[in-house]
Amino acid sequence: AHDIHIIGGGLAGSEAAWQLARRGYKVRLSEMRGGGDMTPAHQTDGLAELVCSNSFRSDDDEKNAVGLLHHEMRRLDSIVMQAGEVARVPAGSAMAVDRDIFSAEVQRALTEHPNITVVRERVDALPDSGPTIVATGPLTAQSLAESIVTATGSDRLAFFDAIAPIVHRDSIDMSKCWIQSRWNKRTEASNEDGDYINCPMTKEQYEAFHQGLIDGEKTEFREWEKDTPYFEGCMPIEVMAARGVETLRYGPMKGVGLDNPYDTTEEHPQGRWPYAVVQLRQDNKLGTLWNMVGFQTKLKYGAQIELFRTIPGLENAEFARLGGLHRNTFLNSPVVLDRQLRLNKAPHIRFAGQVTGCEGYVESAAVGLMAGMMAAEEMAGRDWTPLPRETAMGALLSHITGDADATHFQPMNVNFGLFPPFEERVHKKARKEAYTNRAKESFGRWLEGMERVPA
Ligand code: FAD
Repeated sequence: AHDIHIIGGGLAGSEAAWQLARRGYKVRLSEMRGGGDMTPAHQTDGLAELVCSNSFRSDDDEKNAVGLLHHEMRRLDSIVMQAGEVARVPAGSAMAVDRDIFSAEVQRALTEHPNITVVRERVDALPDSGPTIVATGPLTAQSLAESIVTATGSDRLAFFDAIAPIVHRDSIDMSKCWIQSRWNKRTEASNEDGDYINCPMTKEQYEAFHQGLIDGEKTEFREWEKDTPYFEGCMPIEVMAARGVETLRYGPMKGVGLDNPYDTTEEHPQGRWPYAVVQLRQDNKLGTLWNMVGFQTKLKYGAQIELFRTIPGLENAEFARLGGLHRNTFLNSPVVLDRQLRLNKAPHIRFAGQVTGCEGYVESAAVGLMAGMMAAEEMAGRDWTPLPRETAMGALLSHITGDADATHFQPMNVNFGLFPPFEERVHKKARKEAYTNRAKESFGRWLEGMERVPA
């Protein structure tokens, strides 16, 4: 008999199991690898296998958002962080691990824990009742994905991400761009001035940019990714560019209906339409992050930065995340999950990890950690004390459970753009440290209010 069923023994499921077991709850952890199934990316049967890089990224908790996330997870006795420490290999200010030692250490801790039973089985349907955490990751097995679709609606589970680069608003040079919606169209949700930041291009700039897209170095689809078709709506920008020099000018880069205030004539006192334009759309409620509309891409990261900084207004752009296109199963969490990661339609089921629309090893583990704690609080009959949004965990959770733009929801890494901006002016150079200082203070206060768990 168990108190809670966790499906998926990856980063998130393992972390959730650990948090629950430490709090005295009996966990059944179902993992299909080792029971006759495999995902296209995993290589072993080990719990918490790292499928690609061996890095947990920056470990700097003073100036880096993911480093701050490490810090918060350590304070909550995260098993992923503990095993990471055991498996750590030298990597400068980053935290990198020996993947075999890491996975073995997580597996040892979990299998040795008297409250955890690891069962090597594939689960094909969402359980009808009983506390459950679904942490089946970006490569959730087909039958369970179908069961999730039945519970949420077919348009609520995506099988590919199509990520356009996301830019920090305060790094855009607004002396070259302007805010306006095409044809000044508005909806009820619209801002007064318009909803898009427009970066205009001349013919010469456009042609050079178009060539840059064609020439830029791309990453290849993995063999197994080629089987999953992507749709016209999320076609990589360079694939569109390859169809002809004009294709983008009739697609996401069309200038019609946009009056460039930096290019006025007597005839066009409001401004002429630009030859081509790159549009950015607000990506989070805070207005700190803006995505480049239609710019999902398989260009390599270095090539993206170099090319996108040639766009007028984006010369000094700081990217909260770069573009990409991958096989990735994830929910439209802002719509289908509540603030505690529970399925609105079936609140006995929580989701955790990459399937909730966070992105990355550390983020997935962090969401697993939160799901485990939330479930424990619920089973103890206590109300969950929300994590402050100034913290890394709180900022990430707020984003995926409601603050992100639900109509264009795409997976997200933790970054300072998800944190509430300061009301007072903080100099740019001091801002990162100000974020982490504020977060640590806030996190400490939150932690004091939580039930103590023996280490
Ligand atoms: P996973 O770690 O994938 O865990 C899910 C588990 O559920 C798996 O063990 C799977 O076998 C199991 N499972 C699935 N379906 C079922 C079922 N029906 N029944 C029982 N068990 C099931 N992030 C990074 O930070 N760095 C990277 O380099 C990186 N590279 C990636 C490369 C690829 C190819 C992919 C797909 C993702 C990558 N990610 C990377 C993103 C993400 O961080 C990882 O996928 C991470 O493992 C997600 O953690 P998770 O716990 O949500 O899912």
